Amino acid sequence: MQKFIYWWRFYSFGREQYQECINNAFINNLASIRQGNTLVAIFAVICGITPIIAEDYNFIKAGIYLGVAIVAIVISAYANYVMQQINVSNRVIYFLITLFYANLMLFSTYFSTFGHPDKPASLIFCFFICALLLFINPPQFNFFLTLSAMIVLITCSIIVKDYSVWIYDVVYTVIAGAIGLFFTWHIAKLRLGLELSANQLEDERNKYVDQSITDELTQLRNRRDFMNTFQRYLSNYRSSDDWLCIAIADIDFFKFYNDHYGHPKGDECLRSIGAVLNNLKDELGVYTARVGGEEFAALWFEKDAAHVDNVITHWANAVKNLAIAHEKSKVNEHVTMSIGVYVSKCGVYQDTKSLYDMADKALYTAKGSGRNCAVVCGDEIKEYKITPDSCLLIKHQS
Ligand code: GH3
Ligand code: MG
Ligand code: MG
Repeated sequence: MQKFIYWWRFYSFGREQYQECINNAFINNLASIRQGNTLVAIFAVICGITPIIAEDYNFIKAGIYLGVAIVAIVISAYANYVMQQINVSNRVIYFLITLFYANLMLFSTYFSTFGHPDKPASLIFCFFICALLLFINPPQFNFFLTLSAMIVLITCSIIVKDYSVWIYDVVYTVIAGAIGLFFTWHIAKLRLGLELSANQLEDERNKYVDQSITDELTQLRNRRDFMNTFQRYLSNYRSSDDWLCIAIADIDFFKFYNDHYGHPKGDECLRSIGAVLNNLKDELGVYTARVGGEEFAALWFEKDAAHVDNVITHWANAVKNLAIAHEKSKVNEHVTMSIGVYVSKCGVYQDTKSLYDMADKALYTAKGSGRNCAVVCGDEIKEYKITPDSCLLIKHQS
């Protein structure tokens, strides 16, 4: 999850943001580990000095506690060093957290076993099990692991030791465990905060992605999304049984419409045409987009090339049913569109440009042959023209 957040940050906002995100997360975690280690080290040093003074120079006991203190200091120093690095991997931070907990477990285990030196085996066994779990589980679970480890240690101590001894074990384990619990809770909280802000950012990102591919006026997909989708259709769809249809459409005499009715009315007209194309998507599963001022495009697949007319007639009828008055049009009293369609076998073409140009050429033919019509052409199919009244064969395609 975190890896994804960093990756996404990197590609969405660039290296600086990515670095900031990484550093914040790691520095917060590492700072917690460092504080935890410092406390463990102080506590272990006190425990190490006590047997020298109070237990008549018990160097073995003192040495073990001081050893724990040294390990804690080394981990702290390593955490400090890592904090200053520019690139820190997840693995390093998990390793540090694990080291910290392993040391904490070692500390509490020694506390328990020193109270009853002849029966340390069961406690050491418990320690190994818990240490192993620490390596397997992600740090979020360490809170519960520390809690479980405390329960295991206390239970074992109660089972194998006398009351006068295990009561000390309980006190020591609770103190050591409390430190561990506090820091795991602290780290978990920081991580949660990070994830929450990441979710918030993700929502915003989705909003911006959506905005970047949507045409504001018509709420259709924009040219950028059209070209990307077109490329994806060509690259991913290889079934040679199907036909890929691309249509480019343009409103007839729209300049006159704007000049006569005004720009706001022109926008309203574009919105209505946009609604028609949005319906085309909902009703027939056709991908539609606004690719220019008053130019629209559509993409869809057909099992049979002859069925291409379904979408075109559906489209033309929907525009006709809008019945938007256009006094200045030279072809009709209402707003009309010219459509150029190119139909090709899937898998034949790989680049978008040649297919787009061919559909554009068909549109040009439609404009040149009277407008308010669709011209369909393509591989292996006969070029023909669909007008509101008839379907006309223009020429045979070789
Ligand atoms: P043709 O039948 O040959 O396509 O003629 P036309 O007048 O439609 O062609 P032309 O390309 O000359 O005009 C396109 C017009 O579309 C020009 C411009 O005012 C208008 N237009 C482009 N984008 C917008 C828009 O976002 N809103 C409005 N209202 N008009 C737009
Ligand atoms: Mg036009
Ligand atoms: Mg135009």
